[in-house]
Amino acid sequence: MNAHPPMPGSGQAGGSRVPAGGIDCDIHPAVPSIKALLPYLSDHWRDMVEQRGVHELDSVAYPNNAPLTARPDWRPASGKAGTSLEMLRTQALDGFGTSLAICNCLYGVQLFFSEDMAAGFARAVNDWMAREWLDREPRLRASIVISPQSPEAAVEEIERCAADRRFVQVLMLAMDEMPLGRRRYWPIYEAAERHGLPVGIHAGGAYKHPVTPVGWPNYYTEDYAAQALAFQQTLTSLICEGVFAKFPALKVVMIESGFTWLPAHLWRLGKYWKGLRMEIPWVDRPPVEIVREHVRFTLQPVDGPPHPEQLERLIDHMRSDELLLFSTDYPHWQFDGDAALPEGLSPDLVRKIMVDNPRATYARLTETVQ
Ligand code: ZN
Repeated sequence: MNAHPPMPGSGQAGGSRVPAGGIDCDIHPAVPSIKALLPYLSDHWRDMVEQRGVHELDSVAYPNNAPLTARPDWRPASGKAGTSLEMLRTQALDGFGTSLAICNCLYGVQLFFSEDMAAGFARAVNDWMAREWLDREPRLRASIVISPQSPEAAVEEIERCAADRRFVQVLMLAMDEMPLGRRRYWPIYEAAERHGLPVGIHAGGAYKHPVTPVGWPNYYTEDYAAQALAFQQTLTSLICEGVFAKFPALKVVMIESGFTWLPAHLWRLGKYWKGLRMEIPWVDRPPVEIVREHVRFTLQPVDGPPHPEQLERLIDHMRSDELLLFSTDYPHWQFDGDAALPEGLSPDLVRKIMVDNPRATYARLTETVQ
């Protein structure tokens, strides 16, 4: 076991108001270009990229030049944000005194229509992550990128990567081809549970359906705001389809989901569960209790007013201070300066958000690796 990281309050990181020693549960190293993946692709897929002239995939929900994609002071002079290990060290790790950070690569593997191609690229992204980031920086951990287009291939990739204990989570997107509770995805959850890996569900989508329930919007602003709806539906689907009844040890982390919608949504879901529970008998307790036991939420973006009462009220409604996990969402632009934590939180809650809750969620973070 590692010695415990320094606890919040035990030091300040470079003048930051975030206490040192926290665990950042969402940062985004980016694939600089498809060329960077070529050494990690199989011969077949490398040939396909060259012969077919496969285009850059960029990211699942972050157009390169959109302001949200990188804070101005975190944007490099040229190229994509999140591609420089040195900048990530200085800005994301040293900048917040982070003890460990979980890398969620948002390269667009989920966008492919070909199951085989998606599986080939997922494998390359994971090997690229291990060699280019995890091998070079001991404070980094990563999520396993999978190809949900083929749950069978996704399970193979989980099995392949799970042996490397620096992979601490399986990564999916909030908007896939169908609601994530559907039985099609259950082999993925079975593998994740068996390896003690939470399933992280990040904002973004495969763009195989409109991003709102009433069709395609015109603007990126609408797309980004609609992610909250996708998370609500995803959570509902996981609960109602019985994922947590089938996989009682499974944990799900909603990443970049926001969380202020949670009490209102769970009141609504709980109300209709009371009236309709005969059709889903495996949901044998109120949805809010299932969420308290199985689901966690990363902090950024904080989707409420910047007052501590907001968070405290959420915690009152949910009757749990174990739901939130610290995140900066580096290099995405969710806050300015060092304001990664809402002001005015009690030291006890800060410590839970920054260290205790992440460690309780990700068993592998408490292990010594290498
Ligand atoms: Zn993120």
